[in-house]
Amino acid sequence: MVVDVYDVVVVGAGVMGSATAYWLSRAGKRVALLEQFSPAHVRASSADESRTIRYQYRGQAAYTRMVAGAVKLWKEFDRRSGTDFYRETGTITLQTRPDFEPLLDGYQGLCDLGYEPRWLDAQDVRREFPQFANVDSGYIMEGVGGYIAAGPATRALAEAAAEQGADVFTDAEVVELRESGGRVTSVTTRDGRTFEGGVFVATAGPWTARLLPDLPVRVQPTAARLHYLRPENPAAYESPRLTPFSVMDTQFYGIPVHWRGCVKVADDMIGEPFDPDRDREHEDPGALAKLRDFLGRHMPGLRDAEVVYSKTCTYSMTPDSDFIIDRVPNLDNALVAAGFSGHGFKFGILIGQIMADLATCGRTGWDLSRFRLDREASAVSQHW
Ligand SMILES: Cc1cc2nc3c(=O)[nH]c(=O)nc-3n(C[C@H](O)[C@H](O)[C@H](O)COP(=O)(O)OP(=O)(O)OC[C@H]3O[C@@H](n4cnc5c(N)ncnc54)[C@H](O)[C@@H]3O)c2cc1C
Repeated sequence: MVVDVYDVVVVGAGVMGSATAYWLSRAGKRVALLEQFSPAHVRASSADESRTIRYQYRGQAAYTRMVAGAVKLWKEFDRRSGTDFYRETGTITLQTRPDFEPLLDGYQGLCDLGYEPRWLDAQDVRREFPQFANVDSGYIMEGVGGYIAAGPATRALAEAAAEQGADVFTDAEVVELRESGGRVTSVTTRDGRTFEGGVFVATAGPWTARLLPDLPVRVQPTAARLHYLRPENPAAYESPRLTPFSVMDTQFYGIPVHWRGCVKVADDMIGEPFDPDRDREHEDPGALAKLRDFLGRHMPGLRDAEVVYSKTCTYSMTPDSDFIIDRVPNLDNALVAAGFSGHGFKFGILIGQIMADLATCGRTGWDLSRFRLDREASAVSQHW
């Protein structure tokens, strides 16, 4: 039997696991990153071309501070690796009816932290963002936030980890976790390899409940549909004429032209439970009809645009849509980062740094209390 021995074994090479391996290997730790397919494969939540980086968190300063911390690290990663994954375009957040509370909370929360969102009334929106119709008001964050090339950045983190000495194993599905005396002693992959480690980090995204079925906070995979549309007039949908946007009370959001001449438009609702192993590039007439309805009402210039690509992606929902970042109960040397509830990518590089700190010295400077497994995770109908 082949046994490999590491300081830390990380299971799952989405953005969270790849970033964890990146920081651990940068600190000189011997690390194995085990991935059942390949980093940012089509079924992973970290796949695709883009994720929005928005600072607003309905007034929740803890999250906004973490966004700012993560953006610093994304910028540093881009500088070190000569890439431009993060695009600082600013963002707009709109509402179709006045006084939508979450939007007002977000606006106020940003002001309280010293940011300067600029309020736009309906006339301002019409003048500055003629792509939208039937929108009441909203605000723009200029020069703060934007979007990131999700799949490419995830793969680059895994590659950088490998360059720094991490062993990255693809087609390495962990099928067994061996325990003894309240500790994980090793994990075994489907092809029979065994990996021993001082610490184990589970970053398995929507597959978390399979790897760790007894977590006290449940991680439920749900369906989230995204669409890429090719506008007839692409220039009108490019940055800076358009920034990443959210029409908050409709739950639709999007990103300006960035891939194959396409705009991304997606529905941010908490969808139906979804098996992450299912095929996801099938047609979904219901989701398409909902998209066309949104476009017809609020982005009429895109109403008849060709849908070039459409896919069901997976959110990993916790009941309260807060993350899970904690030690696994009854397993002293096992950590878990999961349940990113459709809003985790922007934090990925920071979560990786936090997990690396927890794995190596057992602490971090960030307040993780709301992410603990012993919290009361009450159900919410709308996630962050
Ligand atoms: C459509 C969509 C839009 C989103 N938009 C945004 C956004 O705009 N902004 C934002 O911040 N966030 C967004 N998110 C959320 C964000 O993408 C996720 O929170 C984040 O990518 C989660 O990363 P992860 O590493 O936890 O999971 P994943 O990327 O799914 O990675 C988990 C990995 O673990 C592997 N794995 C699982 N089990 C095993 C095993 N037993 N053995 C080996 N490997 C295993 C899997 O194959 C997978 O590669 C969006 C998500 C979706 C789906």
